[in-house]
Amino acid sequence: MTLLDGDTIAAVATAPGRGGIGIVRLSGPAARQIGELTAGRELQPRQAHFSNFLDHDDDVVDSGIALYFPAPNSFTGEDVVELQGHGGPVVMDLLLQACLGRGARPARPGEFSERAFLNGKLDLAQAEAIADLINSSTEQAARNAGHSLQGAFSRKIHELVEAVTRLRVYVEAAIDFPEEEIDFLADGHVTEQLQALSRQLQDVLAQARQGSLLQEGMKLVIAGKPNAGKSSLLNALSGQDSAIVTAIEGTTRDVLREHIQIDGMPLHIVDTAGLRDSGDEVEREGIRRAWQELASADRVLLVVDASTDDTSAPPATLSRGEEFQFNPATPVTIIHNKCDLVAQPPQVANHDGNTVIRLSATTGEGLELLRQHLKDAMGYRDEAGSTFSARRRHLLALQQAAGHLDAGLAQLQATGAGELLAEDLRYCQNALGEITGVVTSDELLGEIFSSFCIGK
Ligand code: GDP
Repeated sequence: MTLLDGDTIAAVATAPGRGGIGIVRLSGPAARQIGELTAGRELQPRQAHFSNFLDHDDDVVDSGIALYFPAPNSFTGEDVVELQGHGGPVVMDLLLQACLGRGARPARPGEFSERAFLNGKLDLAQAEAIADLINSSTEQAARNAGHSLQGAFSRKIHELVEAVTRLRVYVEAAIDFPEEEIDFLADGHVTEQLQALSRQLQDVLAQARQGSLLQEGMKLVIAGKPNAGKSSLLNALSGQDSAIVTAIEGTTRDVLREHIQIDGMPLHIVDTAGLRDSGDEVEREGIRRAWQELASADRVLLVVDASTDDTSAPPATLSRGEEFQFNPATPVTIIHNKCDLVAQPPQVANHDGNTVIRLSATTGEGLELLRQHLKDAMGYRDEAGSTFSARRRHLLALQQAAGHLDAGLAQLQATGAGELLAEDLRYCQNALGEITGVVTSDELLGEIFSSFCIGK
């Protein structure tokens, strides 16, 4: 972990543009001194001082409120000063220049949050929640990020880490007393604990997946044969003519993306080129990309033309040979489109565990059934939920942790010995530690904080 270099940073903390108030924030050992020189007066801790703000030549550039938060009781854990002036880009720049002229240096993106993390004011998951809160595109996503910022997600991770640690101590104690090891490990207690821990981890993983889907949006891929009505369905769901709809097969040559919301639930919709063999090179490229998209989908909408295709059997489109990259675990919703042509009413049914929805992309009949189904499939509730936000990075770490637990259990059952189990528990603990930042590399920190905005 890098140590703070001890310098004082400054940045405009409010959004660029014009507004009633704009804030320049300072953090570091010289923050108070620079703040006092700029405000032209002494600053008392946590008191609002109305003052003029002076540039480096002591000319008044603005006036407003100066606040001083002494370390460690500040956002970053260092001395922090906020100069709240008038929110115009030029005046904010003048105020920032006044601070830089007195010895501060411009903050890098996310550097305030990074300092807060390095000084133990927040863990990594909480720091990430700040960026997610700012970037939230829906109300629910913002609420979840708020919960994560308050520590809801981190607490779950700490509980898991504590449970893993307890078990590790027990197993290591067994290893230290080899004559009793067999009894220690064979009494079923460890197996039970491992299984309970695995369930607990899967539960957190499910919640995190939910939070991540709401934060980053579910990726929905629309697939199916040419002319089934994929582009029409994309347009109907997104409410705009973004995909070219024609009656000529193979029109959708590229992959189209749309970001939409269904009652506040974010969705990334991808319309894929018709999945068929083609002699046309451009179209073949489109088809190749379609299979790539399918591989990373959270859900596939498989569109079938009910007016021409047999709808009594499951569609064969997804059971292709060598090109087949579709993850069999990805859930599929089958759409029987063009129900207006076969004069059948919209309907939701279940075939072999897949939801089948009959609708018409052109008339809009049955679209509401699809919207409701997508909300249900994500477990999305319109009212405020109590979930937390999470990132794909966290999901990956949780999956790794679960993998180590399973491996540990398998080792114990195969050998009845504790050494390898103890090792797996340590890996599991490390994977969990990556989420909150107990175990992190400088590269990971750089990657996370550089995606923040400046002043955060
Ligand atoms: P894609 O190749 O799968 O993207 O199919 P398109 O969305 O381009 O649609 C192919 C043709 O079917 C177009 O002429 C559409 O107008 C028509 N179409 C699509 N959905 C429906 C529907 O629900 N009802 C009817 N009657 N026609 C549809």
